[in-house]
Amino acid sequence: GQDDAAGGDDEEAQEGAANTHVVASHYNELKEGGRRDRQKSKIFFMRNFNNWIKSMLINEYMALIKESKRVGDALRVLDMCCGKGGDLLKWEKAAITHIICTDIAEVSVEQCQRRYQDILERAEKSKYANKFTAEFFACDSTLVRLRERYKDVTLQLNLVSCQFAFHYCFESLGQADCMMRNAAECLEPGGYFIATMPDAYEIMRRKREAGPDAQSFGNDVYNIKFDCETDPLPLFGAKYQFHLEGVVDCPEFLVHFPTLVKLGRKYGLKLVRKTTFADYYKEALPQGRNLLQRMSGLESIQPQRCANDDQFAHVQEFQASQRGRPLGTLSKSEWEATTLYLVCAFKKYKNTWDA
Ligand code: SAM
Repeated sequence: GQDDAAGGDDEEAQEGAANTHVVASHYNELKEGGRRDRQKSKIFFMRNFNNWIKSMLINEYMALIKESKRVGDALRVLDMCCGKGGDLLKWEKAAITHIICTDIAEVSVEQCQRRYQDILERAEKSKYANKFTAEFFACDSTLVRLRERYKDVTLQLNLVSCQFAFHYCFESLGQADCMMRNAAECLEPGGYFIATMPDAYEIMRRKREAGPDAQSFGNDVYNIKFDCETDPLPLFGAKYQFHLEGVVDCPEFLVHFPTLVKLGRKYGLKLVRKTTFADYYKEALPQGRNLLQRMSGLESIQPQRCANDDQFAHVQEFQASQRGRPLGTLSKSEWEATTLYLVCAFKKYKNTWDA
């Protein structure tokens, strides 16, 4: 079956990896806008919302890990495809002790390292801040065995996080196998691998909804255009061009979820959660309402600074309401774009046959 076919050494991974340099140069060339630029963005609220989802997911699994630990125990994390380090503050808040940050885009890894230095400097000045050690390197997680790049090759991790990036490995079986092994092989039994990625079922549902003649589908913030045979879809290399207003414009691949689960099992990972963003929002809202309000950034933005009427209306609506309704802050287009994604979590077992 699938398991037997998944050989997965680095050589095999390289076969068919034709798009990784396109993805790398796309992310390398992305400009880092300041907070002001971000506030003007059409997807300002969606970015904040996605950050909230990531925070809730990280907190949920860090809490489970901490249940089995004593105060003062090491908490080590791998942030695979870390980008510019948008999650560093979340790791600081989670009181981790060590992080490994890696991404294919060198420029992003440098920015991530600078962001970490800033956090450290601030921590030096404050006696309450959590100090944690870190290592950084640029590499392709779908082609390279990450462990060989760690300062300590015997390092045991408690959590591996891959946010908005795992789907890039579904270009070929070799790449998906390599990325999954990277996620799993250094995890301590009882540790977790958590991820957010596009939901292939939802993408195909919207494609069908758009009709057989539609070349592409989406709205004013996102667009998807298929670049492969879709009837039937291939298990790997189900390529589409993804455009997200001002942030993403590059080839992506559908993740065939049953195959992802099988690959996980091969490396001792058992699926413990697969939830669409729409459902995770509902589930996490009771505990996360205050955080969402703080993260939605509405306290700091003025209606006159909004980029368009849509945002203006939403800010006004928010300000007019007494309790604040988080959903009211996202435009319909942003909500449609964010609900393309799902969260998932895998637990590491000691023996592959337990997973
Ligand atoms: N995880 C970060 C976050 O949540 O802010 C960044 C997400 S960004 C949408 C996707 C990231 O995946 C980019 O930084 C990109 O460079 C990285 N990436 C894509 N393909 C990769 C690969 N083969 N190996 C390592 N990183 C990759």
